[in-house]
Amino acid sequence: MHDALTRIHHRLHAACHHAQRPITSVRLIGVSKTHPAQTVREAWQAGLRDFGENRVQEAEQKILELADIRHALTWHLIGHLQRNKAKRAVQLFDYIHSVDSFELAQTLSRHCGELALPPKQILLQYNVSGEASKEGFNAQGWESSPTIRADLYDTVRRIGALPHLHIAGVMTIAPYTDDAESVRPVFVSLRNLRDAFAALLPNHSFRELSMGMSGDVDVAIAEGATMVRVGRALFGERDYTQQ
Ligand SMILES: *Cc1c(COP(=O)(O)O)cnc(C)c1O
Repeated sequence: MHDALTRIHHRLHAACHHAQRPITSVRLIGVSKTHPAQTVREAWQAGLRDFGENRVQEAEQKILELADIRHALTWHLIGHLQRNKAKRAVQLFDYIHSVDSFELAQTLSRHCGELALPPKQILLQYNVSGEASKEGFNAQGWESSPTIRADLYDTVRRIGALPHLHIAGVMTIAPYTDDAESVRPVFVSLRNLRDAFAALLPNHSFRELSMGMSGDVDVAIAEGATMVRVGRALFGERDYTQQ
């Protein structure tokens, strides 16, 4: 664990250096899905503080097992969220990266209000590449399509008006490829979208650009990523048959 963490830190350092960005401007989220709580504990002992999970139920079990260090960890939900799990999600996670509809945002806000929780930090997920398998608001070609743009702006304004949410930023999953360079335009497009939203809604920070995974973290940092979600490069290949 320690060696893998050192290697990824070297990679983040090199990418930040290349981009002339401070290393403190990028938060490393260890994506622990399919791995046991013990793996998270070992990563925490090695110095990692942020963890990402893509399923509420799986995360709940781990977060309970790790209750003794809950205060020291920041948990991120990065997978698709169903509305019937929204109540658990706001109780379990510090950040929800996968908000992909107005109805989900509304449900999250309502639960935070009813549970008297502080405003939940959310990120809005966009499908910039247009890949059919990707979740998120459709933002493919938003720069050149006034219709798509008007629609995106309208939705973000309505989400921004919900009382118990704070929009911390935006998130995307780039297409899977062996050539990380080929996904650079996806990251650029998300950054431009974030900048447009930040100008539109000054009451929300829109600080965070959650983009970059094991295969493309370097390119993502070059294009401004502030949160990178790294699974395999830290914890090894996932074994889904164990679930
Ligand atoms: C699994 C997952 C990751 C991590 O991917 P790796 O290729 O293992 O680094 C990042 N983001 C999301 C949304 C994921 O589901």
